[in-house]
Amino acid sequence: MDTTKMRTWAEIDLSALEHNYRTLRAMLAPGCRFLGLCKANAYGHGAAVIGKKLEELGAEMLAVACVSEAVELRRSGVTAPILCLGETPEECYPLLLEHHITQMAEDLETGEKLSAAAQRAGETLTVNVKLDTGMSRLGFFWEADRADETADEMARLCRLPGLEAEGLFTHFSDADGSEEYTMGQFTKFLDAKAALEARGITFQICHCASSAAVLNYPCTHLDMVRPGIALYGYYPAQELKGLDGPGLEPVMTVKSRISAVRALPKGTYVSYGRTARLERDSLLAVVPIGYGDGYPRSLSNRMTMKIRGAECPIVGRVCMDMCMVDVTGVPGVQAGDTAVVYDGPLLERAAQLAGTIPYELLCAVSPRVPRVYLENQ
Ligand SMILES: *Cc1c(COP(=O)(O)O)cnc(C)c1O
Repeated sequence: MDTTKMRTWAEIDLSALEHNYRTLRAMLAPGCRFLGLCKANAYGHGAAVIGKKLEELGAEMLAVACVSEAVELRRSGVTAPILCLGETPEECYPLLLEHHITQMAEDLETGEKLSAAAQRAGETLTVNVKLDTGMSRLGFFWEADRADETADEMARLCRLPGLEAEGLFTHFSDADGSEEYTMGQFTKFLDAKAALEARGITFQICHCASSAAVLNYPCTHLDMVRPGIALYGYYPAQELKGLDGPGLEPVMTVKSRISAVRALPKGTYVSYGRTARLERDSLLAVVPIGYGDGYPRSLSNRMTMKIRGAECPIVGRVCMDMCMVDVTGVPGVQAGDTAVVYDGPLLERAAQLAGTIPYELLCAVSPRVPRVYLENQ
């Protein structure tokens, strides 16, 4: 795709995605399945293309946050099983059935409604039962003194007509932090699995490992892993990167094309609120990216961009559609040049400065920014 006329765009390197997929895959025991996370527009990378690519690479399953995301993947031609991780409103149950989407089931009441809808349609709905082992989000809440009641309820759900209880899963809340807490969650998960087995219920797929656990705790891989951020080339926590990290490659690079380069005298105020004043005669590049593109306003006066290989600081506030960058002394800068806004290190630093994590900045890249797919770079 021709980017020379683009204002701001995100290059999505599918070879990097492939590299990350293969790197993670190589960490799994043979037979362990791979579920690729495609929620939130595949962490901002474009769910349609990423979903197809992951399927082509051999991911056995994909997952999304909500039914509309699942339908989007189907419409893009994905035929692999898709797990909907969030609650689906009752009026959308027919979509689950029509598109053969696997639904997360978090309690008996929801299970009964899903079962009724499947029976009315004369079909079978596949569900993965969610267990809450310490995230306190969705799922059957597992605690030792109510274990029998909870297991009974879960078993009832699994036996409901019209439902196929294919999987059991949980989600770790601190797999990039506390080993003790994570192992506590994992033990609860295994206890629940055993309690269901004692009731004659077995699952084809038991899964609990998102990126942090894929990297940190091989013992939790079980039948399937569910990495998201690692597929896109980032680590769930800075510490996980380590010296011997597996060498993931960032998939997205955000670039913007300089609109104008202007020489301005010392003492000139720059951008809204006059938060910056030039301390010397300066050359400023106007870069057409702003918070309307998902570039955080909190980076005002703090972040840099790479222009002709130089780290150039943002001057003044980030506006909705542009920001100003100091290119004084960078040889040859002119309108039409490319500014690298996010590569791996820039995005990680931006996340830190903005008080957030790479996940949020990736998801924030707005629909106004076209995604340009590259292969074999
Ligand atoms: C988002 C999500 C994942 C993936 O998490 P990463 O940290 O991006 O690997 C896995 N499982 C569930 C339930 C999730 O919501």
